[in-house]
Amino acid sequence: MARQTPLRAIRGMHDLLPDDSARWQQLEDRARTVLEGYGYKEMRTPLVEQSELFKRSIGEVTDIVEKEMYSFEDRGGDQLSLRPEGTASCVRAAIEHGLLDQPRRIWYRGPMFRRERPQRGRYRQFHQIGVEVFGLTGPDIDLEVILLTRRLWDALGLTDLRLEINSLGDSAERAVYREQLVSYLRPHEDRLDDDSRRRLDSNPLRVLDSKNPDLAELIAEAPSLTDALGSESREHFEALCSGLEQAGVAYQVNPRLVRGLDYYNRTVFEWITDALGAQGTVCAGGRYDGLVEQLGGKATPAVGFALGLERLLELSQTEPPPSVDAYLIAVGEQASAAAMAIAEQIRDALPQLRLVCHCGGGSFKSQFKRADRSGAKVALVLGDDELAQQRIGIKPLRVSAAEDPHAKTEQTSVAIDALADRLPDFL
Ligand code: ATP
Ligand code: MG
Repeated sequence: MARQTPLRAIRGMHDLLPDDSARWQQLEDRARTVLEGYGYKEMRTPLVEQSELFKRSIGEVTDIVEKEMYSFEDRGGDQLSLRPEGTASCVRAAIEHGLLDQPRRIWYRGPMFRRERPQRGRYRQFHQIGVEVFGLTGPDIDLEVILLTRRLWDALGLTDLRLEINSLGDSAERAVYREQLVSYLRPHEDRLDDDSRRRLDSNPLRVLDSKNPDLAELIAEAPSLTDALGSESREHFEALCSGLEQAGVAYQVNPRLVRGLDYYNRTVFEWITDALGAQGTVCAGGRYDGLVEQLGGKATPAVGFALGLERLLELSQTEPPPSVDAYLIAVGEQASAAAMAIAEQIRDALPQLRLVCHCGGGSFKSQFKRADRSGAKVALVLGDDELAQQRIGIKPLRVSAAEDPHAKTEQTSVAIDALADRLPDFL
């Protein structure tokens, strides 16, 4: 048969290769530890939802719903979409399962799908960790979610992120501001790009969110949302600001900061870096008190954020520790035959040990080569002689004499029974 042309992954969607997974796991583990440290519980929802859910939550007039969703009709005729973000599904699930009876601190992680133009830091399948808190009006909880993100940056060794915050007010205040903004923008309509011109009627606040550099000046001169805030929104925002100051979190108020998604009100925030070019926002969040009711639940205040794992990974420099501790080499007829059983014995005695057992035979030399390539810290060496005496060799693979002239690089022979006691000294 003629050899087939191999297929490739879809543009903007990436394989996570075995050698790269340790970095992802390390990031996910650290995030999980921080989240659990604040009492957040994980929730997992399906990757596919009814398209209607995203239309009703994110809004019909948004980039995501207008042009980025992977939507399809399934064989039963249902209109479905791959989730482009996590909040809508969390709210849907919270309503469906009656979770809104008391305050809830929830987190989620997983892939999201948006058909954007792929570029550095922007993919069609990307991964988020997010948090949603239901039933608390803030500003204390707004402060908590921001402090939680700061702790996460510390845990990941990230130092050059800056925090921008703003208040979007409530819907009545935004309606007033919306009119001011439209009156300001209307005379400049010819300077707007197509997207912004369309939004001028449908969703004018989103013009402020435009990434088109040609509009930067126009946007900078626009009236400020902050001036349109009423006293309650102002107090909420001031309490958040003073909480941040007390906790020693530096922040910048950015009155042009609006979120791309329509359901936000009051507090919005972003963590931004200059190290990733145009895709500088690594984490974005805020309050969305109207969404639960909009999706058919009882009115419930809510606040949350989502962060992009690909962008965080690109920023973080930490090298994960090696993922293999030991590699068992066996040469000789009896030794090879016994190797798997002995490996099991070792795993029973040392449940934490990450042990690779050589397969496929070969000489000492070729097996040592594999052991070295595996990244293991030590080789465990079994020959027929060792086996006859119920002993095994421990040979360090990673200590260079230059680093540590007294390092033991010789092979040490120990009784198999004593391995559990002796091996940890070599790891
Ligand atoms: P951006 O302004 O970068 O398009 P956004 O406002 O669309 O982001 P959100 O929907 O709030 O972003 O998602 C939160 C975070 O998820 C972003 O700050 C970013 O880190 C990440 N993210 C969003 N879209 C993508 C993507 N296409 N590829 C990689 N990461 C993404
Ligand atoms: Mg976007």
